[in-house]
Parts: sequence; C-alpha cells; structure tokens
Amino acid sequence: MFSSLITENVSLADKNWFRTGGAARFFAEPTSVAEFQQVLSFVRNSDLSVFVLGLGANLLINDTGFDGIVIRSQIKDISIIPSEDEQCELVKAGAGVTIDDLIAFCLERQLIGLEELSGIPGTVGGSVYINVHYYSHMLSDFLVSAQVIEVATGEICDVDASWFDFGYDFSTLHYKRYLLISATFKVKKATALETAYAQGRSFEIIRHRRQRYPAQGTCGSFFRNFHEDEVTVESNGRKMIFVAYYLDKLGIKGELSFGGAVVSYQHANMIVNRGNATSRDIVNLARAMQELVRDAFGIVPQPECQFLGFEKNPLL
Ligand SMILES: Cc1cc2nc3c(=O)[nH]c(=O)nc-3n(C[C@H](O)[C@H](O)[C@H](O)COP(=O)(O)OP(=O)(O)OC[C@H]3O[C@@H](n4cnc5c(N)ncnc54)[C@H](O)[C@@H]3O)c2cc1C
Repeated sequence: MFSSLITENVSLADKNWFRTGGAARFFAEPTSVAEFQQVLSFVRNSDLSVFVLGLGANLLINDTGFDGIVIRSQIKDISIIPSEDEQCELVKAGAGVTIDDLIAFCLERQLIGLEELSGIPGTVGGSVYINVHYYSHMLSDFLVSAQVIEVATGEICDVDASWFDFGYDFSTLHYKRYLLISATFKVKKATALETAYAQGRSFEIIRHRRQRYPAQGTCGSFFRNFHEDEVTVESNGRKMIFVAYYLDKLGIKGELSFGGAVVSYQHANMIVNRGNATSRDIVNLARAMQELVRDAFGIVPQPECQFLGFEKNPLL
C-alpha cells in the first residue's frame, strides 16, 4: 500500500500547455516540505523514475504517458525575509508559486525588478530550472538563495545562487538530483511613483507578449537559441544566434504543419496545437523544422522544450 498523497493513472494532458500526452502511472501534489519528503520516501522504496511538474508550460509529454511518478509542487507560500540591505527586500516563494503571482505580490508591496518577466507562464520551480529570460533579463539576476531537496535521500539543503551554476537555459537542477522547494529573490524597495511605473511596464510587457506570441496550445519557444560557437552567419559583425532568424527565413510561419500541430503564424519558433494534435504530431513537426534548418544552413536547432516519457531523444 502507498501513501494517501499518491494517486494512480492520472491524466497529464490537462496539466501542460500543449494539452497533449498520456497519463502518469503515479501522481502526487505535496503541499509542504514534510509531504514532499513522504512522497520521496515512497519513491526510494521502489525503482520509479521521478519527474517534477510545474505548469507544464515548457513540456512535451509522450502520448504513451510516463511510467513513473509525477510530483506537482503545491508549496505556494510567499513571504518577506528581513534584509540587511536598506535598498532591497528578500522575497521567498515556494516552488509552486507562479511567476505572475510572485510579481503581483512584489508590486503590491512596492518591490520592483521581477516585473520584467511579466506574462511568462510557469512556476518558480520550472522557472529556476530553465532560468527564465526575457530579452536581457534573467531570473538568476534576482535569485540569492534557495531550498532544494535531494531526490535520493529526501535531505533538505540550503544553497546560494552559485550552487545553481546558472547559464542561458541552464541550472544545476537539470542534473535531476535535486528538486527545488523554494527560492529567495532580492528585489528593490521602491517609491509609490517607481512602483506605478513598474506596474505600467508589467502591463505593457503583457500586452506586447499577447501580440507577439500564441496564448495557448504551445510551450513558447520550442528550440533554444544557438551558442556562438555553433553558428557562422553574422549580422552587423555579430554572430546570429537567434534560432527564429533561421526559421523565419524558411517561410514556415502558419504554413508548415503535421497532423494537428502547426508552426505559429505569429512566431516561427513556436509550435501550436490546433486542438487535435498528438505529441507525435508535435515531434514530427519539430523534426521537419530541424531538417529544414539543417538543409538550408547546416546547423540543427536543439529543443528548449523539455520532454517527458520518451525513451530516447525523439528529435535530431
Ligand atoms: C506562451 C509561452 C510563452 C513563453 N515565454 C517564455 C519567455 O519569454 N521566456 C522564457 O524563458 N520561457 C518562456 N516560456 C517557457 C516557460 O514559460 C518557462 O520555461 C517556464 O519556466 C516553465 O515553468 P513551468 O512551471 O511550467 O515548468 P514545467 O514546464 O512544468 O517544467 C519545465 C522543467 O522544469 C522542471 N521543474 C519544474 N518544477 C521544478 C522543481 N520544483 N524543481 C526542479 N525542477 C523543476 C521540470 O521537471 C521540467 O524539466 C514560455 C512558454 C509559453 C507557453
């Protein structure tokens, strides 16, 4: 018999932004650190693979589902921690808090900075994992410390920002040995006027994003940008690292499709589920995009989107 926290054969299609994919063999939603440890102790007594889920905004789940346990953190506390820095405040947020709720919490208390990431769907857990970014702003600019849990032992560790080894689309969490429990961010104390400006900027960023990106049935950018050493094309003396530049040149926006999956008419690096797509359709479309870029430019885009339930990399 297993913990009352764990349920069996739970659909994941309604728990990710693509709205595709099969079921998880086991599923749990811990609401506290103690419950997280309880779930992981169940895992230790089995040979189950573990996957931690946020909003599923950067995720493609195999149509056959996942033969392991999916943990979706419901640790949603947000609090202010006293800071020695008079100019700043420390805000601690559970892994299950959404980035938009975190920004709203800060703005209500005249704390600014994070609003540059307004409108990016995701939880603190998923966003620290990938180090979410918008133009030059990265979540790692704000993170000062965190609590993580070791999957193998259930031990809780307090870590600082350097532990994450943050980079573009990267943090130590990618090694899957630790899961994020909570993170603490340093934000600036602001005047009422500065806060009003930050609030306006947040609205403007959201408005701009709605015009530029599809609002549902997508994982955002499917492929990451290239690293400088992967490309040779230059523009104004700088390496052209933006994957959307190459995809755009192919004229595939709103045109290239596979089954129910289509390249967004708004953004060449976004795949959209027209309503009836399977994850297989999305994989086939993504592979076709990779092949077109490879044949035209000799480079192969690599996914930013994370995969769940695939035995091996389904792409090139
Ligand atoms: C419309 C749209 C627009 C987007 N725009 C942007 C953008 O501008 N910038 C950007 O950077 N991203 C963008 N994204 C991608 C997405 O918003 C981010 O990657 C976001 O951080 C995903 O968070 P999530 O909670 O949904 O994570 P999920 O998709 O659920 O999971 C992603 C990864 O994070 C891991 N993870 C989740 N929680 C934890 C945890 N507690 N501990 C350890 N690992 C964890 C998962 O295991 C998985 O590997 C966009 C997505 C969409 C759908």
